Amino acid sequence: MMDPAVRSAYLQAIGIDVWVPRAGSARARSTQSALEAATPQADPEVPAVDPTVGSVVRGQEPGWAGQWDALRAEVLRCTRCSLHTGRTQGVFGVGNPQAEWMVIGEAPGAEEDRRGEPFVGRAGQLLDAMLRAIGLSRAQNVYIANVLKSRPPNNRDPRPEEVAACLPYLRRQIELVRPRVLLAVGRIAAQNLLGTEESLSRLRGRVHRFGELNTPLVVTYHPAYLLRNPADKRKAWEDLKFARSVFRQLTAGSPADGQRP
Ligand code: URA
Repeated sequence: MMDPAVRSAYLQAIGIDVWVPRAGSARARSTQSALEAATPQADPEVPAVDPTVGSVVRGQEPGWAGQWDALRAEVLRCTRCSLHTGRTQGVFGVGNPQAEWMVIGEAPGAEEDRRGEPFVGRAGQLLDAMLRAIGLSRAQNVYIANVLKSRPPNNRDPRPEEVAACLPYLRRQIELVRPRVLLAVGRIAAQNLLGTEESLSRLRGRVHRFGELNTPLVVTYHPAYLLRNPADKRKAWEDLKFARSVFRQLTAGSPADGQRP
């Protein structure tokens, strides 16, 4: 479990007010609950998740690397929708394609379009800080991708025909990565993945399922929204803890307890 002092430092980096309260006060208890690291036991608030779902052997099947590289090449030369005419480049994804966590955002912004990597602007820095607070990093144990691989002009919302053209790429990425848990950040990603118009607030705090593999999917706020609405960072932290409990419940008792064998 992460050292509480280290976690406090991470939460401070996100911008969640962390202070050391007097023991026993109501604030102490609520701060405690905001900072507590979920124990490896099942969290009573987390509905039982079938640990066999998504636990099939991932990655490294014969031909896996070839399929991944072919998919990337196809995305980078894709002309399925008109967004290809305005992009600098397609943005495939970043991170460890053998990861047990996958984070899904909406679409590349200006900086991502320039650099060819998802979440590299200010929102990306916040996303990295959020992930760090639950022990994840794009360099090691998470893969990050977007619903759309090309930047919509002026960062407008994706259009249905663009999502319809691009979503099969993300589905294939998810099939190849085979994450244990998907974390959808923001309303647009969540609604498009789940095929719903339900509000983000109604989608939070529940375990949804995605795709043929029935991968558990948890929803939280988009980091760009949190930059504009920092008061909701605390709720995002609750979502991250929820996602972590789902992950722990899924991996408890597996041979390497969540670590890839
Ligand atoms: N917002 C997203 O949803 N994705 C990115 O890659 C960058 C910003």
